[in-house]
Amino acid sequence: MLAGPTAVGKGTVAAYIRDNFPEVWLSVSLTTRRPRPGEVDGVHYHFVTDAEFERLDREGQLLESAVVHGRASYGTPRQPVLDAIASGRLPLLEIDLQGARQVRARMPEAYLVFLAPPSWEELVRRLVGRGTESAEEREVRLRTAREELAAQPEFDTTIVNDDVRRAAEELVSLMRNPAINES
Ligand code: 5GP
Repeated sequence: MLAGPTAVGKGTVAAYIRDNFPEVWLSVSLTTRRPRPGEVDGVHYHFVTDAEFERLDREGQLLESAVVHGRASYGTPRQPVLDAIASGRLPLLEIDLQGARQVRARMPEAYLVFLAPPSWEELVRRLVGRGTESAEEREVRLRTAREELAAQPEFDTTIVNDDVRRAAEELVSLMRNPAINES
């Protein structure tokens, strides 16, 4: 499971893994936020209404769920994760800290990887550089990021995202390590 502060590049690392390592199965989350330009329903997220999200949550179909940045709901559909495990693939969840804590509580065998920015300054630069959020949204995200950085000790390991390909390879080699998968 991959978590880490906003804008650290979790999505980019996860997408690189999805496209280059077929033995890894990347979970597609539900979200109630609107698609950004270029995002495809069913690939990047399942984009759902608030009512649909609430129904799935109420029916127990989510492995975890969280309101992220105080704006939209996000959640991991449970059954596809169980199917991926049953078919021998390596499941990867790219989620926020609140979700990571829930998965850890429900699946103690989950392995938590913290994706860290090379530095706080670099994180701010990436967040501003992305240019998809308003100044107000960026403030909220920075505050969340600061809290998330402080949670790093809860994780099993940390990978520094200095280079997407290198970070992705390090993560996949950790996932392939049977010592992790059996623990
Ligand atoms: P974004 O809106 O930028 O795609 O994602 C915002 C945040 O939501 C990111 O930190 C991302 O990791 C987190 N996120 C994406 N999918 C999920 C999910 O299924 N569950 C949880 N808890 N967080 C998620």
